[in-house]
Amino acid sequence: MTKQKALLIIKPDGVARGLCGAILKRFEQVGLTIIGLKFGMADEKTVVAHYPETDVWFEKVGQRTLTNYAEKSLDTKGIFKTDNAVEIGKTVKKWLIDYFQESPVLCVVVEGYNVIEIVRKLSGNTIPLLATPGTIRGDFSHDTIDLANEQNRPLRNIIHASDTVEDGEKEVRLWFKPEELFSYVRTDEKIMFKK
Ligand code: ATP
Ligand code: MG
Repeated sequence: MTKQKALLIIKPDGVARGLCGAILKRFEQVGLTIIGLKFGMADEKTVVAHYPETDVWFEKVGQRTLTNYAEKSLDTKGIFKTDNAVEIGKTVKKWLIDYFQESPVLCVVVEGYNVIEIVRKLSGNTIPLLATPGTIRGDFSHDTIDLANEQNRPLRNIIHASDTVEDGEKEVRLWFKPEELFSYVRTDEKIMFKK
């Protein structure tokens, strides 16, 4: 079995709320190795490239709104002027570009076995209201789709975490240069995995 890398971004709301230490602690205590760390304003081009420009991704994001609005008998046309999932997804992406550039972000590369499952598990559901207590989104936020969409903004959910191994590799290459990543072994690995 080999270790894999994932990108985490503590989004502007997470940084501005002083949550960096509390969030990093969770990834360190579960046993992942921090191999890259970068703080600063996100660059627009990087954010545009970060979130996919594909109909599949737009549809997934738009569908989240449609499902939530259907459950609450709300009409997306008031906010989005459409009930087409792809079009809604495109609007959310525009909002994300502004959100990411609001104030500084903390970008982190973590490495470990099954790293994607771990970072997604610790981050919790995309919609903070649905995120389980104990997860980062569940413990530190309770935003909802309808509140976010009504205010013409994306969900403020504190953290980004890569959701596949392939995306993790792509995202790490996008946000970090090879020389900004460091390889070392945590001293507790011998005990965690009994090599
Ligand atoms: P991330 O990629 O940020 O880790 P995720 O993988 O859980 O989150 P995605 O489907 O990739 O979720 O959506 C990217 C981000 O876009 C979400 O984290 C959230 O901030 C925002 N978002 C997604 N869907 C919606 C929506 N329907 N309305 C508002 N914001 C949304
Ligand atoms: Mg995602």
